[in-house]
Amino acid sequence: MTYIPNAERYSRMQYRRCGKSGVMLPLLSLGLWHNFGDQTPFATQQAMLRTAFDNGITHFDLANNYGPPDGEAERNFGRHMDADWKPHRDELFLSTKAGYGMWAGPYGDHGSRKYLIASIDQSLKRMHVDYVDVFYHHRPDPDTPIEETMGALDQIVRSGKALYAGISNYGPEQTKRAVDELKRLGTPCLIHQPRYSMLDRHIEQGTTRVLREEGVGCIVFQPLAGGLLTGKYLNGIPEDSRMAKDGRYLKPASLTEETLGKLRALKEIADARGQKLHQMALQWVLRDEVITSALIGASRPEQILDNLEILNAPPLTEEELQKIDAIIGA
Ligand code: NDP
Repeated sequence: MTYIPNAERYSRMQYRRCGKSGVMLPLLSLGLWHNFGDQTPFATQQAMLRTAFDNGITHFDLANNYGPPDGEAERNFGRHMDADWKPHRDELFLSTKAGYGMWAGPYGDHGSRKYLIASIDQSLKRMHVDYVDVFYHHRPDPDTPIEETMGALDQIVRSGKALYAGISNYGPEQTKRAVDELKRLGTPCLIHQPRYSMLDRHIEQGTTRVLREEGVGCIVFQPLAGGLLTGKYLNGIPEDSRMAKDGRYLKPASLTEETLGKLRALKEIADARGQKLHQMALQWVLRDEVITSALIGASRPEQILDNLEILNAPPLTEEELQKIDAIIGA
């Protein structure tokens, strides 16, 4: 059936400016790393994308290697594009990336011009789009000159295959060098995509300072630590959870007594606020406007709606923030 988006989709969502650019991003964005490969029914994927967009989530994030198998999330997204999104392309903000191993041989990994330009061409074909809004270098490559990698991003933008350039997983010094080089080339860095959650605050050690100073946006991935911060693992491993279904990245070994202790203590604060732990975790990463958007994953549409409840919640108080610091370490 033809998809007709909810007419009220922009009334509730809040949008933040991405650094000093003209781009506004929703507070929550949806990532297609998990649950958009060959193991998730098309209808479930479709329901998640529609639910997101119906509620003002305009930004979908992909990468060349999302699946499984590699490339499958982009291929599936191409099918969704044909089914639902062609008439709405200008309302969508789409990203993809290259930087991890994608094909055999010396040209399918890391940060060479050869790899990045071939990869964006492949991604556009799989996604059934003429361009993406952001193309990211997915991780720093210490062996390729930053001038070559940023030169490739600049060329991709100038050729119209992406509208903006981004970097992901770069540390503070690498970020500064990439931002400077892109500035010199005349294609400013729009956005950085690092990991950030109540269980991983590393970006507060320099990266956010660079982004603030340089006016670069920041979309943080795994704000729920892959689901740990939902509290669903406090009493064992539920059968329908990521840890049970796909242990590639979220392993039972991460359920240490130390982590479980922190999660229990955090849940008490969330309970006192009358909200769920994951809702508090999302509000926490968004508490500082240097963070433009929190990039969530989902395995079903109801989770997206549940996470969107943060739009109705009061901000975290100074006292709550201090209590959280005491648990997770400032
Ligand atoms: P999250 O930390 O948001 O974890 C998402 C998982 O948490 C869901 O798949 C679901 O797992 C569970 N969950 C989410 N909401 C709820 C809810 N309301 N109730 C119960 N469970 C919930 O992030 P992801 O690890 O999925 O990563 C998000 C995105 O970040 C990726 O899709 C990708 O776009 C990006 N990313 C980027 C990286 C990079 O290097 N640039 C690396 C990793 C991710 P369950 O299956 O248990 O239901």
